[in-house]
Amino acid sequence: MTRHPPVDERGGRSGATAVRVAHRLRSVTPSARRRLLLVHAHPDDETLTTGGTMARYATAPDTSVTLVTCTLGEEGEVIPPELALLAPDAADQLGGYRIGELAAACAALGVTDHRFLGGTGRWRDSGMVLAGHGVRAATPGRLHPRALAAPDAFADQVDALTAVLEEVAPQVVVTYAADGGYGHPDHVRAHEIAVAAVRRVPEVERLYATVIGRSALDTGLAELDGASLPFRMPESDELPSVPDADVDVALDVSAYRIARQAALRAHRTQVALSEGSGRAGRTTAYAMSNGVAQPLLDVEEFVLLAGEPVDGSDDLFGGAA
Ligand SMILES: [Zn+2]
Repeated sequence: MTRHPPVDERGGRSGATAVRVAHRLRSVTPSARRRLLLVHAHPDDETLTTGGTMARYATAPDTSVTLVTCTLGEEGEVIPPELALLAPDAADQLGGYRIGELAAACAALGVTDHRFLGGTGRWRDSGMVLAGHGVRAATPGRLHPRALAAPDAFADQVDALTAVLEEVAPQVVVTYAADGGYGHPDHVRAHEIAVAAVRRVPEVERLYATVIGRSALDTGLAELDGASLPFRMPESDELPSVPDADVDVALDVSAYRIARQAALRAHRTQVALSEGSGRAGRTTAYAMSNGVAQPLLDVEEFVLLAGEPVDGSDDLFGGAA
């Protein structure tokens, strides 16, 4: 938030100037009644897991959306060959490049309040190693000194997020489940930071984890079946999902497909988007650098980690004031 010197209305300003100043102050210090804050690990996670949710609440009346991204995503695998030299083992410029990708994605989703945890470039993508089956990830053997997952960085990270939570005072915070969704050390750390910081800020009424329910995933994969896509279909348990019974809130985000697709395209170093004709008609899929097809689902689902269960299952705020 930008801080402004106090306006002295008796300071000899003309009436027109005073009105203009008052208008400017209102426009940069919004006080929406409902405030949503999301804590994500890398640029692209916000779009991949909660893009529809962000677009939906960004256009909702009297509602604000704040995105906190913990790293620049420096260790991501670069898909477009012409950008391959941005990678950490070459020019190591990927993090800076992804700042621009994230800005474009936020613009597509209608999100104007975005921050990097602790300031731009404070903590670095820890990288990951593949662990076991499918896309599951684990912590690499050696961590960069500024790695988000570094054990001794945790207290500063919780302080940094607490400062944002105290400023924004969101009723609802979204992050990942305790396993980070698929085990990436930065997603696990983002969860740990969010849980610890939320405990310190009484204004937060509910903390959610973004998840994919098994039925929603199966429905989406069935729609890709037979489609001519430049990706391979995942094996039966390759993509992470949770049992349907665990899902507390399922948001219909079907109205935001165009915005989500634009945001996915903005993350072109990380995500490839493709359309094909499946058995259910025209369908959209995306893939990360592993080339595994993932459906663009019309629902985004959440598990309640802390706070009162919501009244109804289609609004993260439920009965929140
Ligand atoms: Zn990530």
